[in-house]
Amino acid sequence: MAPEIKFTKLFINGQFVDSQSGKTFPVVNPSTGKVICQVSEGDKADIDLAVEAANEAFKLGSTWRTMDASARGRLMEKLAGLMERDMHYLAQLETYNNGKPLKDAVFDIYGAIYALKYYAGWADKIHGQSIPADGNVFVVTRKEPVGVAGQIIPWNFPILMLAWKWGPALATGCTVVMKPAEQTPLTALYMAHLTIEAGFPPGVINVVNGFGATAGAALASHERVQKIAFTGSTAVGKLIMEAAAKSNLKRVSLELGGKSPIVVFPDVDLDKAVQTCHNAVFANMGQCCCAGTRTFVHESIYDQFVEKATELARKRKLGDPFGEVDQGPQISELQFNRIMALIEAGKKEGAGLKVGGQRHGPEGYFIEPTVFVDVQDDMRIAKEEIFGPVQQIMKFSTMEEVIKRANDTHYGLAAGILTNDINRALTFSQAVNAGTVWVNCFLHVTAQAPFGGFKQSGIGREMGEEGIHSYLEMKTVTISMSKF
Ligand code: NAD
Repeated sequence: MAPEIKFTKLFINGQFVDSQSGKTFPVVNPSTGKVICQVSEGDKADIDLAVEAANEAFKLGSTWRTMDASARGRLMEKLAGLMERDMHYLAQLETYNNGKPLKDAVFDIYGAIYALKYYAGWADKIHGQSIPADGNVFVVTRKEPVGVAGQIIPWNFPILMLAWKWGPALATGCTVVMKPAEQTPLTALYMAHLTIEAGFPPGVINVVNGFGATAGAALASHERVQKIAFTGSTAVGKLIMEAAAKSNLKRVSLELGGKSPIVVFPDVDLDKAVQTCHNAVFANMGQCCCAGTRTFVHESIYDQFVEKATELARKRKLGDPFGEVDQGPQISELQFNRIMALIEAGKKEGAGLKVGGQRHGPEGYFIEPTVFVDVQDDMRIAKEEIFGPVQQIMKFSTMEEVIKRANDTHYGLAAGILTNDINRALTFSQAVNAGTVWVNCFLHVTAQAPFGGFKQSGIGREMGEEGIHSYLEMKTVTISMSKF
């Protein structure tokens, strides 16, 4: 049954409010293509109000700025606890709005809770140093929150991305203006409501629904926003960086696209390897920035691998995400069309279509799990981020060759290698240009470890200790020992 929609307005200064323009836009259920509800459409005027509220909450002497750092961590713990309490509802809402299978939504929410709790633990452990200098001065450093953080997130992991962004911002003592993806605002709005119940002071967290070119661009270019954190496409990442540079040179962290390789050597259990590569690309309907979309298989096991991978894709259960399925719909008609166009390009350029390639079902944005074989490096499907359930299987002979081909991309988010040979694993881990390297696993992401990309897959790292740095300014205070 469809969950009740409780919040549809903008969340500014601790209250749900209509947009200044009074405009709304529809939120669509990707399983049916039908409208779930209308939500308020924020644009520049609403971003201005949210930024003002966030600056007010950040003022020296405010409740938030004078709060004991441990108490800040406890507020975050409380929020995580409320998510645990409302897990069932949140998961239903996420599945309804995003289309991911319910069990995946539950998994994501556990991940979000984990991230908030992890960063709650950091809140009172962020400190500077005392630095030995010449004996006439006493030098200390302070790590201070950067200020108002603008956060723009995508639709593929709505609640998980929210937690990845709120976690470090709140732990460091920043205040937040978040713009969720226009496709998936519903769980963010419910989370906004939970922040009131948890006891966050008004203005510390603001959520403004709206579109990228209006609300998103206003946030990225706002003079009173000190930092912008973005997850999404590389093309928009470049716009964000440009807007940040042209406005107030705000700090920027970008987590962008990928075309990650996963390399299979012949010394592994073939069934396990096929399953790992399958999950690497098909998880979350293929809508993972770090999806292992280029499956490089050693020539000596290539034919067997292809048969087994095809069989696995054929068996993948597709349908109503509230049912017992592995795969739901793609997020939107636009994404559906983008993916289908790339599948057509694959066929045209001569890749072998082993299974899938078609729309599934009479309504919604379902795409059959698709496997292409004999994919060549210069084909569009080998170069472009597909962001759909489409596996590209490619043959290789030597380590030297596969490293070169794995690195032949302007992306560098993640990479994987499956082998029991430690030397191969080490050689690959060192040579591959990627922010995350998985050995004998894939998509294993944890809140404690940094995540982000080389090259055009991003700037900076989220998560782990590294993730807090981009929300901090370092201040050096030098105190003369002589009487003044
Ligand atoms: P997108 O990059 O356009 O959208 C992501 C977020 O950025 C949304 O909140 C959107 O409203 C906002 N945005 C868009 N234009 C903006 C602008 N000019 N200024 C500020 N914010 C703006 O992504 P999309 O169009 O939804 O998807 C397109 C492709 O992006 C996908 O096919 C996929 O390849 C990639 N993508 C990557 C990720 C990821 O996790 N790295 C997530 C979603 C999409």
